[in-house]
Amino acid sequence: MTVFTKIIKGELPSDKVLENDHFLAFHDINPKAPIHILIIPKEEVKDFQSVSGRLMSEMTLFMQEVAKLMGLDKSGYRLVVNNGKDSGQEVMHLHFHMMGGSKLIWPHLADTDTKNFF
Ligand code: 5GP
Repeated sequence: MTVFTKIIKGELPSDKVLENDHFLAFHDINPKAPIHILIIPKEEVKDFQSVSGRLMSEMTLFMQEVAKLMGLDKSGYRLVVNNGKDSGQEVMHLHFHMMGGSKLIWPHLADTDTKNFF
């Protein structure tokens, strides 16, 4: 069982932003931006690669609602989803990082030279 399943079940505490029967949004414990929210489905889905289109379409509406609630729909935000080994995904339960609250940087993300890739 992942930490996020424990959060869904209420076995671990979380600072909740929005919840309905299918999704949960809560503040990341180690924020990388002034606002850093994690958005997860309650259904156990291990990563983005295995999520269904049906669930993603509902999750999209939920994420838009979270953005509105936090005022990020006006100021802007970044969504990040880490998928698998190279991305550094730590928790094997699908989650979107929603980050904003100030101007975000767009850093070089690879540990190799990207010049000759394309
Ligand atoms: P990943 O690297 O898998 O994309 O991101 C996992 C995220 O979950 C990290 O940003 C990490 O700070 C966050 N996280 C891990 N454990 C907990 C926890 O128990 N509570 C909360 N709120 N966030 C967590």
